[in-house]
Amino acid sequence: MPGDILIVDNVATNRIVLKVKLLAAQHRVRPCESIETARAEIRQAPPDLVILDVTSDTAAALEFCQGLKDDPDTALIPVIATGGFLDPEDRVRALRAGADDVLGRPLNDQILQARIRSLLRARDAHRELRLREDTRRALGFAEAQAGFGHSATVVALSPSARFLRCAEKKFAGCPNIRLQGERFATGSGLPDRMAGDLLLIDGRDFAMREAELYRLLSELRSRTDTRHAAVLVVLPADMTNVQAMALDLGANDLVMADASAQEVVLRAKNLIADKQRADQLRDTVQTGLQAAVTDPLTGLFNRRYALPHLEKMVDRAFESGRQIAVMVLDIDHFKTINDTYGHAAGDEILQQVAGRLRENVRAVDLLARIGGEEFLVAIPESDTDHARNAAQRLCQTISGAPFRLDNGQLINVTMSIGVSLSGPDPDPVITEGTDHLVRAADLALYAAKGSGRNTVSLSAA
Ligand code: GH3
Ligand code: MG
Ligand code: MG
Repeated sequence: MPGDILIVDNVATNRIVLKVKLLAAQHRVRPCESIETARAEIRQAPPDLVILDVTSDTAAALEFCQGLKDDPDTALIPVIATGGFLDPEDRVRALRAGADDVLGRPLNDQILQARIRSLLRARDAHRELRLREDTRRALGFAEAQAGFGHSATVVALSPSARFLRCAEKKFAGCPNIRLQGERFATGSGLPDRMAGDLLLIDGRDFAMREAELYRLLSELRSRTDTRHAAVLVVLPADMTNVQAMALDLGANDLVMADASAQEVVLRAKNLIADKQRADQLRDTVQTGLQAAVTDPLTGLFNRRYALPHLEKMVDRAFESGRQIAVMVLDIDHFKTINDTYGHAAGDEILQQVAGRLRENVRAVDLLARIGGEEFLVAIPESDTDHARNAAQRLCQTISGAPFRLDNGQLINVTMSIGVSLSGPDPDPVITEGTDHLVRAADLALYAAKGSGRNTVSLSAA
């Protein structure tokens, strides 16, 4: 997930070294030697992420960071603060000023890269929430509840009673946070149910058994009760490999074992706020939009929601210079299915097709039923290969296994998919954006039907 990254550092060698590392990871990089330059760059085009060195003029750097977070236009840009951070209080100050993470110099390349990936992922989810809010308003719905500042539960997991007691003390001053300690040792099973907004995992015990930590993180991401919880892992400062891997496997944040209580609490609060925002995003999808924008048969968004929403996604793709993929999916020979098994069986198939599609798109993708047996999927930040693979995966999801009706009958179903992609620039020819993209995907769909069905066709446009 390459991004457009702004480096703010007044030491030329730091900028150059960092730039080389980031370019190697396919990011676009804009180095700035001063905060003034950074401000001008951001005004010109907001970056995806800022790496801000706070070593030389800490006060000015933190003020700049706070300014970004206070301005609604830039609040969602993740900021990584870098510096010496010899005094733990310095880290806390940077986090208070809104930095999403603080990394000590010298920077560990592996951790920095894993951090960037995880922050960009989180940022995408926030943006999607905002976008859905805009669509709600456009459709005349009331604004969703802000939803922050609810009370929250932190579940601390550790083999050590002392760790759990310390955690309790750390959160004792937070009236909205309830701490629940769970004794848990490496190799033993997780507690049956954990209803925490945040899981605070003592990872110090995993030094020799890192595979256990990875297994634990994967399990937390797959369990229904913990899938959406924020995960904060406490690790020894010298386990850099494990730190990077933990971030990639779904830990939302890390904190070093020697961090101050204040830092742990600040990070926890930030994660809880993020998690509650994400919950809200899911609520909006699940319940907020209700009948007017939901297809009653499948529960997917209907055409009325999908097209204005797609319009916004396309605008955003143009703004960020990224491509968006639009797919039109149509069940093959659906009339025959109706004719052979009856209309009710057809309805059941439609519901199950919707279910399989839903399981195979991400939260940031748009999935809608836009016609009788026709669906639309839009995938932001895509490209030709990615879009083709995603479409083929969806095709396979439908054709891979027969559908079982309530009466036990098995029916094979296939789908054809037409795909179009927005150009990287706001091409004047396609300024109608959405219409053009849907039409191009439709044409590609006809081509897929023509070439035998159960297949994917990419628009030539
Ligand atoms: P193709 O492979 O070319 O797409 O053929 P097809 O039979 O899928 O396409 P056609 O457009 O001829 O038929 C679509 C059928 O979908 C006709 C219509 O009765 C049926 N249909 C549309 N909406 C619903 C619905 O909500 N429930 C059921 N059971 N059938 C529906
Ligand atoms: Mg059709
Ligand atoms: Mg059809």
